[in-house]
Amino acid sequence: MNETVAKQNLLDLDRARLEDFFADTLGEKRYRAHQVMKWIHHRHVTDFNEMTDLGKALRAKLETHAEVRVPQVQFEKPSADGTHKWLLGMDGKNAIEAVFIPDKGRGTLCVSSQVGCALNCQFCSTATQGFNRNLSTAEIIGQVWVAARHLGNVPHKQRKLTNVVMMGMGEPLMNFDNVVRAMSIMRDDLGYGLANKRVTLSTAGMVPMIDRLGEESDVSLAVSLHAPTDELRSELVPLNRKYPIEQLMDACVRYALRKKGESVTFEYTLMKDVNDQPEHARGLLRLMRDFDRRVQMKDAAKVNLIPFNPFPGTRFQRPDEEAIRGFQKLLNNAGMIAPVRRTRGDDIDAACGQLKGQVADRTRRQAEHNKRLQAQAASVPAGGADAAA
Ligand code: SF4
Repeated sequence: MNETVAKQNLLDLDRARLEDFFADTLGEKRYRAHQVMKWIHHRHVTDFNEMTDLGKALRAKLETHAEVRVPQVQFEKPSADGTHKWLLGMDGKNAIEAVFIPDKGRGTLCVSSQVGCALNCQFCSTATQGFNRNLSTAEIIGQVWVAARHLGNVPHKQRKLTNVVMMGMGEPLMNFDNVVRAMSIMRDDLGYGLANKRVTLSTAGMVPMIDRLGEESDVSLAVSLHAPTDELRSELVPLNRKYPIEQLMDACVRYALRKKGESVTFEYTLMKDVNDQPEHARGLLRLMRDFDRRVQMKDAAKVNLIPFNPFPGTRFQRPDEEAIRGFQKLLNNAGMIAPVRRTRGDDIDAACGQLKGQVADRTRRQAEHNKRLQAQAASVPAGGADAAA
């Protein structure tokens, strides 16, 4: 009887696990794993026959027991401003997006952690699709692999990919193990060699998992705050009903204290007449100042202001330039640096929180969203469809 054994996808394994695989499954020396990691992540080679410093016998064993299966590029789109977006097929049914954003001396890749998202933040395009499943470690690090190959990135030499933000589709802390393992490959010298500070995990506020992240990883933390009060935040980010602002800020303080001297970034998406008024700026300032005081470090709290990027069917609008500047000025005048993150790749819908793969939605949220869109279209008089956004 022919028994087919599933091959191990080596992209799923960080250094320690790959060494174990070499020792336990292949009966090889552990250091051989290091050669293979370099072939995969530095030279972007997936065919064992091209790994020329491995002996023939080892290559044959690898052929039998392992594979390097990378995400399939279904579609890619460069933007006029250098931003590059990939639609990546994961399993023949689902696709996710990754976006590379070059900017003065740095190149940031925005990486997805789930197919869709369950958290239903009201201003988020991904949320309209509902949730399908977590991505595997291979599917997460595979996004970095695809971008690095496209860019001709060579760690320590030709470094074009300098930063990774876990800020694409999904809530990374709801896929904890796979995300932490993928982030360890990003930071490994045999992987992509990124400094801890240059890998950022962005969460909507999964309080218990922020503590676990602090114990198990050393990456930068970003929090999607978006509102200074529980009343407003619970409306925008429903997760706030479970973990309100006080608990969230406590967890951020514990994280910062554990990572002595590290700041935490708070993302604030500005939405017209929703959270862009002076009282919101003053509330945000109070929260940030309180955070600085508790971790005893000036500017420990960093704020990123992100003007909302409208998508079809949303009820939110982007504030006008004057309101954005006014909000920023109020923070600046109180001594707080709060850069406005300009939308990049506008022509390819590349803004974070705006990523949209092709999700087989299990929650029916996509169908509800489509229904709303149809209702909107029906209520717009002929020639007035632009007003729908
Ligand atoms: S903003 Fe992030 S956490 Fe919230 S629904 Fe969108 S992808 Fe999920």
